[in-house]
Amino acid sequence: MSEVKALGAGRFAPSPSGDLHVGNLRTAVLAWLWAKATARRFKLRIEDLDRVRSGAADSQIADLTALGLMWDAPVMYQSTRLDVHRRAIDYLVEQGLVFECYCSRRDIREAASAPHRPPGHYPGTCLNLSDAERGRRRAALAESGRRPALRLRAPMDEWTIHDELYGEVRAPVDHFVIQRSDGTPAYNLAVVLDDAAQGVDQVTRGDDLLSQAPAQGALADMLGIDQVNFVHVPLALAAGTGQRLAKRDGAVTLSDLRKLGWTVSDVIEWIGESLGVRGARSINDLSDALDLSALRALPRDPWMVTPPSQIKQNPDRWIAPSGAAARSKGLEPPTFCLVSNSSNVISLDDYRRAI
Ligand code: GLU
Repeated sequence: MSEVKALGAGRFAPSPSGDLHVGNLRTAVLAWLWAKATARRFKLRIEDLDRVRSGAADSQIADLTALGLMWDAPVMYQSTRLDVHRRAIDYLVEQGLVFECYCSRRDIREAASAPHRPPGHYPGTCLNLSDAERGRRRAALAESGRRPALRLRAPMDEWTIHDELYGEVRAPVDHFVIQRSDGTPAYNLAVVLDDAAQGVDQVTRGDDLLSQAPAQGALADMLGIDQVNFVHVPLALAAGTGQRLAKRDGAVTLSDLRKLGWTVSDVIEWIGESLGVRGARSINDLSDALDLSALRALPRDPWMVTPPSQIKQNPDRWIAPSGAAARSKGLEPPTFCLVSNSSNVISLDDYRRAI
């Protein structure tokens, strides 16, 4: 009898740097749909090693919950895993798979890129320095109170990963940072270790990270970790500028949209439309409409987002900008509207239930 390998888990792994915008929410929804369509479990991880804004993790979790996404408890917080990250760094150092890097961001920006390396990859400045040169550069950094970062010295030049949308992707392995100059384990190291610890074998995320995937796959191999399946999905761009969608582009977060009268179902419907599905009002509607073959056939182009600017006219909604509006309808103003500044728009049903 042939052995059936149990499938692992998909995941969503936001950085808690602020509220999730609709592009992030769409990536979360796609990660959930991919996990469901492939009979996987689903995990959530907060990547809080850097770029942390106080309160952002909680509001991200609240928004994902509001969308109806469900994941296995507990949520993993990357900052609780520093000892594991450090042990892996020590192991890589002992194996000679790491080198010190003395470059500033500016040094890297201004260095000529190394031949056969994709743009954005480390140019190799500190890769092959003599011990004497290393000592000199280390001392120079120490004088200004800084320490070197640690970068990966992978034994392989290239690595192939499997992506559900892009197929086999073979690319040079970047000498990425595994420990930042402030001693913090870096994203590219932590992501590999923490996905493995959560049993993740399907990594769905924005396609801006596709170029890092081969090096992450190589690092996994160096650490004796199984390869994952990637699903790199298109980013959301602001239609006006063609730049990555951001908060400054307008009403792009759940809380902004709520203030304009949108319900969660309206947001799901909008995300659904961007995936070619009409009229989906819940995450389950989306999952009914998008089976595995439909997920595989989704467009690879970025989602061009035009944030709404008008209050949504919604037949079953009643907008209560103030207590006065409620009283004019002969109703008591809903107290949670008065104490919450996140939304003053509720459905009439919710309001009736609340009073
Ligand atoms: N935390 C990263 C971000 O929010 C995503 C990392 C990943 O999915 O691998 O951009």
